[in-house]
Parts: sequence; C-alpha cells; structure tokens
Amino acid sequence: MKPEKRKTSFNEKMKSKENVEQLKFEGSCYCGLCQFICEGKPIFRVICHCSICTRISGGIAVAFVGFENDNLKIIKGSEHLRGFKTTERMERFHCEKCSSNVYNQSLLADRLFRDTSLMNFQKDDQGNILHLDQLKPDSHMFFSQCQECYSEMFKTDGLIKFSSMPGSTIIPNHPSK
Ligand SMILES: [Zn+2]
Ligand SMILES: [Zn+2]
Repeated sequence: MKPEKRKTSFNEKMKSKENVEQLKFEGSCYCGLCQFICEGKPIFRVICHCSICTRISGGIAVAFVGFENDNLKIIKGSEHLRGFKTTERMERFHCEKCSSNVYNQSLLADRLFRDTSLMNFQKDDQGNILHLDQLKPDSHMFFSQCQECYSEMFKTDGLIKFSSMPGSTIIPNHPSK
C-alpha cells in the first residue's frame, strides 16, 4: 500500500511541474534564422479566414496563437525581421531570408499584442507540434470570408465560428451526428 501511495504523489508532482514548464513555447521561422519564445498562457487561439491572412500566407486559412505583447520575445535574428503594415493597427513581421511569418503585432482596444502562426512552434521528430493541447485553435474568425469550396469541411469541427472578429455573429456548425 505504502509504495503505491508514494508513486501517485510523485506522478502528481511531475504533472504539476510539467504544467509550469509548458508555459514556455519556442518557435521560429521556416529557415530558423528568426527565433522566438512565448511565455504564459495564450490569450487567443484562432483560425483566421480573412482575405489578408490567406493572401499573405497562401493558405486556405491560418491558425494563430496570440500572447500579451511582452510575452512573445524574439531571441534570435531580430535584425533579419522585415515588417509590413497590412492595416493601420497591424504590422506583420517576416524573415528576410525564407520570407515566412515570424509574428504579427496588433493594437486592439488600446492594447498591444503579438501573435504567431501555430505552425511556427517547435515540433517533435514526427513533426507533431509540442504542447499542442495548449496551442491548438478553439475558434475561427472572419469565417464569412472563407471560400465556399473550403467552408463545408470546417463546419463539422465543433469550433466556434465568428463571422468577423471574435465576439461577432456566430455562424452555425453542422449538428454533430
Ligand atoms: Zn527564416
Ligand atoms: Zn486574418
């Protein structure tokens, strides 16, 4: 009985230690020249379908993870960052060598925050994103701009679909079977 009890408390201790450690997430651009670290809990995890994100990325949508401005820090390659303002309130930074997104900086309701593509975060040897549970999207935004040929496949994922910014009208999912 006694060893069993000890094992449980040890496991619990490891689990809580792991949770604290997982509040740091590292990532980089495609070529690795620009590297960043994110600390603390993401403030949003969203798939954006807006016309700007899709044009700039070339993807059908982009999954972003957002942090308080000071919690996403460039730790390497800041001299290789190039910025491009897509709106008055949003500047997107990419790597001058590989041209992939590194982070975006936005001003919303007088608050600065930074977000980066989910795909920029560190992956294991199999290509799976580390700590995905804490980074994976929980909603879609600008879903009204999703092209019809793609929108059907998202409607069964169970995630909230805001027509534009988070908090806007919600576009219904298909009922789950
Ligand atoms: Zn790069
Ligand atoms: Zn967007």
